[in-house]
Amino acid sequence: TVGAIGYGAYEIYNKRHPLEQKPFDPKKRTVVVLGSGWGAVSFLKSINTDDYNVMVVSPRNYFLFTPLLPSCTVGTIELRSIMEPIRFITQHKSRNVKFYESECTDIDPESKTISITDVSDIKGSVSNTTVPYDYLVMAIGADNQTFGMAGVREYACFLKEIWDAQKIRTRLMDCVESAGFAKQAPEEVDRLLHMVVVGGGPTGVEYAAELHDFLKDDLEVWYPELADKFRITLVEALPNVLPMFSSQLIQYTESTFKQNKIEVLTKTMVKEVADKEIKVMDANKNLVSIPYGLLVWATGNCPRPLARKLMARIKEAQTSPRGVLVDDYMRVAGAPDVYAIGDCTFSKYAPTAQVATQQGLYLASVFENLARIEEGQSKKITPFEYSHQGSLAYIGSDKAIADLPFLNGNVSVGGVATYVFWRSVYISNMFSFRNRFLVVGDWMKSKVFGRDVSR
Ligand code: FAD
Ligand code: NAD
Repeated sequence: TVGAIGYGAYEIYNKRHPLEQKPFDPKKRTVVVLGSGWGAVSFLKSINTDDYNVMVVSPRNYFLFTPLLPSCTVGTIELRSIMEPIRFITQHKSRNVKFYESECTDIDPESKTISITDVSDIKGSVSNTTVPYDYLVMAIGADNQTFGMAGVREYACFLKEIWDAQKIRTRLMDCVESAGFAKQAPEEVDRLLHMVVVGGGPTGVEYAAELHDFLKDDLEVWYPELADKFRITLVEALPNVLPMFSSQLIQYTESTFKQNKIEVLTKTMVKEVADKEIKVMDANKNLVSIPYGLLVWATGNCPRPLARKLMARIKEAQTSPRGVLVDDYMRVAGAPDVYAIGDCTFSKYAPTAQVATQQGLYLASVFENLARIEEGQSKKITPFEYSHQGSLAYIGSDKAIADLPFLNGNVSVGGVATYVFWRSVYISNMFSFRNRFLVVGDWMKSKVFGRDVSR
């Protein structure tokens, strides 16, 4: 028994440390991957490093499992549980994969080089350099859409990255503690405890749902004197929330929100953002002011500065301002040997993890075929085909909704059973056993002890 335990421990230790890997081979082509998100990691997991040298450039040295990020804003799940160091992923490759924690600031398709900048706070003597590539894979994701509205970046919180979830959590607890401050004026208490979410897409809806659970399960218990003052409002410009879901599930979500006292203002567009209030154009075209304590902004995506820079450089071929234009083989129009996948592209599919993952997997197979073709084998490279596996969203009170393709039709389901399904899908989609273990542990911990209400 002691031997078996010892061997088990050795196995775990061995897996946690870099394996023997082949070094870079100057005779092989070098593929540079920009990003460490869904598209990049899916590509990295599948690319055959016997065929290529691979280098990764990303300002984040970890992968982030975004579908569970809304749960982190309220502490149902801890942030580190949904992060996976990029080196955990690359250590399993046959050849050493170089990783630079830096931001790519420019792509020059003519000289086939990229410029990169060290993003860490502590820098060495070199913090800017250029790197050559044979093939470049852009998987840089997208920026938060603000429509250039003044005040959004200054006063609102986004929900895309780890630091966004941390900021939301801190601001929320600040609002609650300030509302409880001695002799606080009643109208100020109302403002501080009014949480406003802008955007009724899945990010806004899931965040409002998680916030509701936190208020009901934890904050109302720990702050009984404020319990009847908490309010959540969701503002959406279109006539309904979640336009990508079936009408049945839209209705189900809106009625669940009503039961949960989440006010949904549809046909209402935010026009101005100030530090304590937003101005909206309501359904009757009146300009109305809404005071808030916490403002979360989830109005979709727009291209990152690097994508815009590349698009401007090759503007004859890049005709859409909405993202990098690629063909059916994920090749960037106007930039030979540059490929793009995921949210940074302008494509006919919604910008989801599902799409980015399938594109990453597809591109790795293209590179495999290119290598075989170079060896003289006959291989055909076929265009990318997206296979939609369905849409899921959490809507609060242990309920989720799911639109799933079934036979040649679609099945729309919602409720507690769907929530169990939602959890099992996300757990099985996590990239590592470590993440699964941590997330299940967090779920159990918050069920037994409640969520942590410390700042
Ligand atoms: P990302 O995953 O955003 O990765 C981009 C990477 O590029 C990051 O590592 C970033 O640091 C890096 N990068 C940025 N700039 C540079 C640069 N200049 N140089 C180098 N690297 C750079 N989709 C679903 O299908 N299901 C869901 O349930 C779901 N839930 C979501 C919940 C939330 C809260 C959010 C925000 C999104 C959710 N999505 C979901 C959408 C999904 O996260 C995105 O579609 C997906 O992340 C896109 O993958 P990507 O690889 O294109 O970009
Ligand atoms: P989105 O584009 O899906 O939704 C943004 C919403 O904001 C839209 O409904 C839009 O009408 C509204 N809006 C825009 N400007 C507004 C304004 N000024 N005032 C009021 N409302 C305004 O964006 P998202 O929710 O951030 O999602 C981004 C992508 O990530 C989408 O493709 C989405 O499918 C994906 N995602 C998926 C899931 C999931 O599958 N569970 C979760 C989160 C995100």
